[in-house]
Amino acid sequence: MDFQKDFPILKSKVNGQPLIYFDNAATSQKPKHVLNSINNYYQNYNSNVHRGVHELSQKATNAYEGSRYKIQNFIGAKSSKEIIFTKGTTDGINIIASSWAETQLNKGDEIIITTMEHHSNIVPWQILCEKIGAKLIISPISKNGEMIMSEFKSLISNKTKLISITHVSNTLGTINPVEDIVEIAKENNCKVLIDAAQSIPHFKVDVSKIDCDFLVFSGHKIFAPTGIGVLYVKNDRYQEMKPYQGGGDMIKDVSFEKTTYNAPPHKFEAGTPNISGVIALGAAIDYVNKIGIDKVSNLENDLLHYATEKIASINKIKIFGNAENKASVISFNVNGFHPFDIGTLLDQFGIAIRTGHHCTQPLMNFYNIPGTARISFAFYNQKKEIDYFIDSLKRAILMLG
Ligand code: PMP
Repeated sequence: MDFQKDFPILKSKVNGQPLIYFDNAATSQKPKHVLNSINNYYQNYNSNVHRGVHELSQKATNAYEGSRYKIQNFIGAKSSKEIIFTKGTTDGINIIASSWAETQLNKGDEIIITTMEHHSNIVPWQILCEKIGAKLIISPISKNGEMIMSEFKSLISNKTKLISITHVSNTLGTINPVEDIVEIAKENNCKVLIDAAQSIPHFKVDVSKIDCDFLVFSGHKIFAPTGIGVLYVKNDRYQEMKPYQGGGDMIKDVSFEKTTYNAPPHKFEAGTPNISGVIALGAAIDYVNKIGIDKVSNLENDLLHYATEKIASINKIKIFGNAENKASVISFNVNGFHPFDIGTLLDQFGIAIRTGHHCTQPLMNFYNIPGTARISFAFYNQKKEIDYFIDSLKRAILMLG
């Protein structure tokens, strides 16, 4: 089935060539259904939420809160109250660092992350550790890009308070065994945050099954606009969280003497929210549900295996990330060439790929490379695009070499 017809941008030409978009891990394209939902909101019921008695405000509030239910169902949360709207993954992790970790961790306590984390799951913890005197512990990975579980277990002690881990590596594609990690964490009384930025768009993520304490993702990677994201907080954790920002909507009662707060999730959504973004995220979830997340997963797996085989057969190419359990991301380098040159030449052929460190500099240091070329698929990509990419890559190698 041709899903590309749902995505207007995929009809465009780049440098005179039909666009082939292989940079979905950076951000996904947006279907008409999502674009229309934004237009429809601004044209027909633009209004602020939670505040008005008037018809438009109630319509906007219903659509806004309706999206919260859609997300609750999509990720298997027990209650829509466990869904907080954020700006994105980075925002969600920073909220947990300030709102939960800053009050729950003490000097000497430890947070475990892995070598493969995105900068947004490193830097907020470094800032926190500096502030409160906690320690960041790095769980190592093997050369093929998988967590070494025996080493991970050996790092856990009674000082470990939080394990913050990516579900899928944006650079290597590795799918981490998050359910096992949560089980180990629970045995040791630690809490777990899952960075689901790269898993949510690609396969079923169920927070009740994973049983994590926190989970974050960005709307823009799952066909919604930029500037909207989700922070899932297990209900039990709410009482340990202080407000992140103060302002309208997050309060119950304000006086100069004493202010009381609204109940979660509103306690953590101060000010006028990104209403159109939330509505569009709901529309994106509807779109994915219509196709079926398992179908998305199967289509992408097929593309991943097809492309991996073809790339691996090209001389001089090394793939980074050969985990057994992988999502649709392939990072590679061509021996002797800078990834930037490969990316620039492919752009001339109309192919959008990502080059560089992918916001995972410590991972690049681990492999002792400055960066990689990375292709990443969405379900709307096609095998004939991969064939054209392989031909173009071979041409680029010839031209450079
Ligand atoms: N974590 C991972 C694994 C990511 O891939 C990304 C985006 N590249 C982020 C976090 C940060 O997401 P955002 O920039 O949307 O906040």
